[in-house]
Amino acid sequence: MTPLLDAAAAIAADITELRHAIHREPEIGLDLPRTQRKVLGALDGLPLEITCGQELSSVTAVLRGGRPGPTVLLRGDMDALPVTEATGLSFASAIDGAMHACGHDLHTAMLAGAARLLSDRRADLAGNVIFMFQPGEEGLGGAEIMIREGVLEAAGERPIAAYGLHVTSDRQATGEFTTIPGPMMAAADVLKVTVRGRGGHASRPHASADPIPAACEMVTALQTMVTRRFDVFDPVVITVGSFHAGTVNNVIPDEAIFHATARSFSDDARRRLEEESAQLVRNIAAGYGLTADVRWEPGYPVTVNDAGEAAFASACSLALFGSQRTAALEHPVPGAEDFSYVLREVPGAFIFLGACPAGTNPDGAPSNHSARAVFDDEVIADGMTLLSELALRRLAAEGR
Ligand SMILES: [Zn+2]
Ligand SMILES: [Zn+2]
Repeated sequence: MTPLLDAAAAIAADITELRHAIHREPEIGLDLPRTQRKVLGALDGLPLEITCGQELSSVTAVLRGGRPGPTVLLRGDMDALPVTEATGLSFASAIDGAMHACGHDLHTAMLAGAARLLSDRRADLAGNVIFMFQPGEEGLGGAEIMIREGVLEAAGERPIAAYGLHVTSDRQATGEFTTIPGPMMAAADVLKVTVRGRGGHASRPHASADPIPAACEMVTALQTMVTRRFDVFDPVVITVGSFHAGTVNNVIPDEAIFHATARSFSDDARRRLEEESAQLVRNIAAGYGLTADVRWEPGYPVTVNDAGEAAFASACSLALFGSQRTAALEHPVPGAEDFSYVLREVPGAFIFLGACPAGTNPDGAPSNHSARAVFDDEVIADGMTLLSELALRRLAAEGR
């Protein structure tokens, strides 16, 4: 059997073409019919059991190995972002207002590539592989919907491990794989506050109940709360990204509204952040004779890697690509990821793959979600090799 790296090199051109086709026609959200069609086309003819989603255009493919053994899951997300591409690439998005700015086009293509590589090695495979092609990562929780629709039971038994790759267009050297045991990405919730007062003439504020100064104090008090109430080694972030009140200079409005993103890295900090931010905001309002409506909208949970699986993923990367291209992630990152829902159910690891264009400095390169974010095709072969190796080795290690 050809070594995995050579086999990946042999199909890299095809998989890159698939990536370009997906990139040219980006789709946003849970319903990605054209992307789904491309995935189904790429899997056509492989010995897979394929099912498509009900509530979303997901694709679940199961490969049953030639030898008995447990099941592992590999995941790739498929959705694009509402961004107008400004990269100037030859295969840039042909759809105005939609772009694969987070590199999910590479994830989808690499997962299809891994399905091909592993199908060719079916006889050696000691167990089953679930390929999870997932729409709606960007804010819509597609992973949670796929879990509800049974992706974890697709092979007839729960996977013993799950892995996902994410490319980065900045921060990391091209071709470098990184991961970390424990929390890797943040929980991302939304705090929505409406401060209610009583409007009136701005020249006589004592005759009204002005919500604006109180709302301003809440914004700064929330920042103080972050440093005075939370452990610096279990950090949280609150950013008020929108703040609206009033219409003209001489009218005190009835209300002031602000929204904040709230990030945390443990379930405990997350729960406290919800409770204590609401308490703080309500009490500041009360101090001024106002009231505050506080809404907490839960987003994705913390992405937590299993320590053993993260070490295993690093060992696979080390064996394939050496120490120059395998590193421990320095610290968790405060972005959020809905692979977290899978990792709550199944031990596993999420892995970053540096994909900024070779020769450019990753520090200062346009980041994921930028209209100018560029992800290098060169990482595709190695990404699908790592995914395949994770499945092969994990199943071999179990050796029922
Ligand atoms: Zn993203
Ligand atoms: Zn992403």
